[in-house]
Amino acid sequence: MQHDILALGGDGIGPEVLAAGLAVAERAAATVGIKLTIRQDLLHGACWDVHGTFCRDETLRAAMAADAVLVGAVGGPRWDHIRVPGGPEMQDGLMRLRKELDSYAGLRPARHWPFLAERTPFAPGRAEGSDIMVLREMCGGVMFAPPRGQETRNGQRYAFDTAAYDETELRRIAVAGFELARSRRGILVSADKANVMESYKLWRAVAQEVAEDYPDVAFSSLYADNCAYQLAMDPTRFDVVMGCNLLGDLLSDLAAIVAGGLGMLPSACLCGPPGEPVRGIYEPVHGTAPDIAGTGKANPVGMILSVAMMFEHSLGRPDLARRIEGATETALCKGIRTPDIGGRETTTAVTNAILAELAA
Ligand code: NAD
Ligand code: MN
Repeated sequence: MQHDILALGGDGIGPEVLAAGLAVAERAAATVGIKLTIRQDLLHGACWDVHGTFCRDETLRAAMAADAVLVGAVGGPRWDHIRVPGGPEMQDGLMRLRKELDSYAGLRPARHWPFLAERTPFAPGRAEGSDIMVLREMCGGVMFAPPRGQETRNGQRYAFDTAAYDETELRRIAVAGFELARSRRGILVSADKANVMESYKLWRAVAQEVAEDYPDVAFSSLYADNCAYQLAMDPTRFDVVMGCNLLGDLLSDLAAIVAGGLGMLPSACLCGPPGEPVRGIYEPVHGTAPDIAGTGKANPVGMILSVAMMFEHSLGRPDLARRIEGATETALCKGIRTPDIGGRETTTAVTNAILAELAA
């Protein structure tokens, strides 16, 4: 068995955590005789500095040909001011990759870790057992839909975006939400603002239509503001929460507070509904952390758990995903942790401890 992986470190701590993720991926694959063929390339700032573009066409072609794409993180103050012709996807290498691969289903799991309970803002016991999967639509909505721009109107500066989805986009994200819920605890909440916006009225209507095909899933729609409040007050009642590109972005950061650290969170952007193996982009939720880049303090866990998601959703090996998760949890429970989650170990030490648990 052989799989092709494209690995893009990006900027800041991106390449540091990617190296950790690749070591774990190769070790886990080797234990069951799978060969990973890994091709590395530059993305975003690192790519700009060498090639003058945030994502090369050649990199896109390699991504389309690969079984999965691993990404560290992208961005930094050195490149933030650069504006190039084209839509939002041309300003950001990762957004271009997501858009061109059409990886619309963004899975962002956040679970409570008992040993990090004190690092969360919850009163004792309030977040215990929380296991939330936020599903974010990644390729449409207000972050992409035209028209958008900045101009002068009536002698003053004017800026506008468009919140828009067609029914095909809405149906496929809803199907992904119901399939995910069915594979978990069977509860799906859809967040929208159908009370005040047309695009969300259609979002809600299509979700309710798809619900008819999933009588086994407990489905409800919540207004997003109330959903945020409920998530913060009682995270344990949630299983899958789905939202558009913008609301999914906000709600996934909110859900992340149950975990007790940004460096702990993985993500997947899938090019089809979860279930059968499908191509995807796997990356930690955190950014490039310029404040700690090059110091050896980066927490590799978000990246390593993203590798676990890759084995589950793109390589058809949920068993290896569970082994990586188990090895990670065991190493962390032994107190081998980076400073962001209260430890004193380096990226390499944590990675080596997880590799040792994988071998055990
Ligand atoms: P950030 O996630 O990079 O950092 C926020 C804080 O969390 C910092 O204090 C950082 O040190 C800490 N942190 C983040 N990841 C960590 C890890 N693995 N281990 C230890 N500590 C960690 O967010 P930011 O500072 O808002 O953004 C920095 C840059 O990253 C910006 O250019 C932003 O655009 C970019 N960004 C990229 C992505 C992505 O590539 N998916 C996501 C978010 C932000
Ligand atoms: Mn975000």
